[in-house]
Amino acid sequence: AELYSIPAWSGGYFRVSDAGKIEVTPSPGLRATLSEMVAELVQRGESLPVILRFPQVLTGRVKQLNEAFQAATLEYGYSGAYQGVFPIKVNQRRAVVEGIAAAGYDYAHGLEAGSKAELALCLAQRMHPDALLCCNGFKDDGFIKLALWGRTLGKNVVITLEKYSELDRVLKQATALGVKPAIGVRFKLHARGSGQWEESGGDQAKFGLNAYELLRVVERLRELDMLDSLVMLHTHIGSQITDIRRIKVAVREATQTYAGLVAQGAPLKYLNVGGGLGVDYDGSKTTFYASMNYTLKEYAADVVYTVQEVCKARQVPEPTIVSESGRALTAHHSVLVVPVVDVAGPTRDLQDIPESKGEPHQVVKDLEEIFENISGRNYREMYNDAVGDKQTLHNLFDLGYVTLEDRARGEALFNAILRKIQKLISGEKYVPDELEDLQKVLADKFICNFSLFQSLPDNWAIQALFPITPLDRLNEQPTRQGTLVDITCDSDGKIDKFIDLRDVKATLPLHEPNGDPYYLGVFLAGAYQDVLGSAHNLFGKVNEAHVTVRPGGRYHIDLFVRGQKARRMIESMGYEEPMLRDSIENQTDRAIEAGILTTDQERELLEDYDEELLGYTYLEYEEA
Ligand code: PLP
Repeated sequence: AELYSIPAWSGGYFRVSDAGKIEVTPSPGLRATLSEMVAELVQRGESLPVILRFPQVLTGRVKQLNEAFQAATLEYGYSGAYQGVFPIKVNQRRAVVEGIAAAGYDYAHGLEAGSKAELALCLAQRMHPDALLCCNGFKDDGFIKLALWGRTLGKNVVITLEKYSELDRVLKQATALGVKPAIGVRFKLHARGSGQWEESGGDQAKFGLNAYELLRVVERLRELDMLDSLVMLHTHIGSQITDIRRIKVAVREATQTYAGLVAQGAPLKYLNVGGGLGVDYDGSKTTFYASMNYTLKEYAADVVYTVQEVCKARQVPEPTIVSESGRALTAHHSVLVVPVVDVAGPTRDLQDIPESKGEPHQVVKDLEEIFENISGRNYREMYNDAVGDKQTLHNLFDLGYVTLEDRARGEALFNAILRKIQKLISGEKYVPDELEDLQKVLADKFICNFSLFQSLPDNWAIQALFPITPLDRLNEQPTRQGTLVDITCDSDGKIDKFIDLRDVKATLPLHEPNGDPYYLGVFLAGAYQDVLGSAHNLFGKVNEAHVTVRPGGRYHIDLFVRGQKARRMIESMGYEEPMLRDSIENQTDRAIEAGILTTDQERELLEDYDEELLGYTYLEYEEA
């Protein structure tokens, strides 16, 4: 557990059992072993990779957030309420949206839609009558009409103006439909976030109105005697804010703006502080982009305190505080489980050293000498010499001075030298600086049955880090250092940066394969990853199991949602199955005519083809 710093990032939802297995712990006293769930699925004949979803964790996060705000309002005697909204763009999967809507009902926790499709989805959810349905994002008439109809359905729909010109559109549609709108305005704070989304705030922000435009909205609505339609001030300085000071500064500016609008006579009810509540992916509790220097409780306390402080000073009523926390609600609830299907690397390749034909080239002899003489005393300089010799070997090969046989022997000697060094340094705690890249060179490539682009797109796109651990063997010292590669035909499909409490690491400690299935869990992947993924190489959505943990270490797989079949992936590119089938049959007809294929073989071929069309897009090895 220590090696993977599990207690630091798990948020209390994951732990290692005495048997060295990862357990999910949705609440104190409830625990169940992840590898048992995976084994059950495999036994049922289901394929991996799989996402394990834990609805209890999702519910727990909704509770934790709301209770943190309730506790803070109580502590400070804050007279307003807290009402969160879940921005569904963070994860629109049915289990997530319905799970949050249900868990949030009693807290009047609402939803946020950023597009017409998202709004259509949100309108169909069962929500508390007071719960907000915030409509953010750029809007056309259709979006606005749907939002206004939402009010007639009894939903507390607020249309957030992202730019000044949206006001006219809203007013026009509201008049046409005869529905009174509830309007929010997104304000461009000059405050900036911290971490990877720093650019979301500030004057250059993509969304929001400036101070003058804000006042113009107030004037327009006053003229139309509709000022009471302006109910919310909205701000957002970016996701994953790592530094609590930035949040306080932004909330202060937002509250001053709110007070300014109230002073203008706008009877605002809600102050929306947006998203940004972080997730501590590496457990370091720092302002590093994969971490945060505050807790969820501190966030709630600081937001409430800051709003109250400004409201007191400005003598304005304390608003209902709204936050649009998405990442923090969803990250913990799902674990991506990927099977290791093979291990490759320089110390893994064929280990015998082939002979040269005749007298070997001098550079090969040099490598032989290093191999013979390398020891604990001299391995640093010997390593550098070997790297140089290998480079020379390749240069000479390109020029035609080294034969293919010599090259094979030279490379095999180099790998054998690496294996020797690996043995020599295996007991050492600190690898000398000059051998810094050695760990990377020596690292094994653990080939994992998944697509980075489908399942962890943020790792590829923005170098996001996720904690990764084996699900099992955690009471056994790992003896290998590895990087992970996926099964896409893309060399970017790899993970070679891993969380660490002090630094980012280039390799992950892993266990020597022992013939048993070896599964890795990728944790805290429940925010954004499920829905941002892409179909690179036509690897589709992965299978999902929704698991409830019961007392006594038991669990129940409530639902299994099958991932996308190959046929669906192909059809999503504009092909149709009958067309594919026809083409294959035309080809088999011709092959039969040419005598290359028998009719029995044709039947078998077509069966195999059909089976693959209906099959899972990932590798389906019997043992994994
Ligand atoms: N609200 C708005 C307007 C956003 O753009 C975002 C995402 O960046 C969020 C809320 C969700 O933020 P987070 O996932 O950090 O809670």
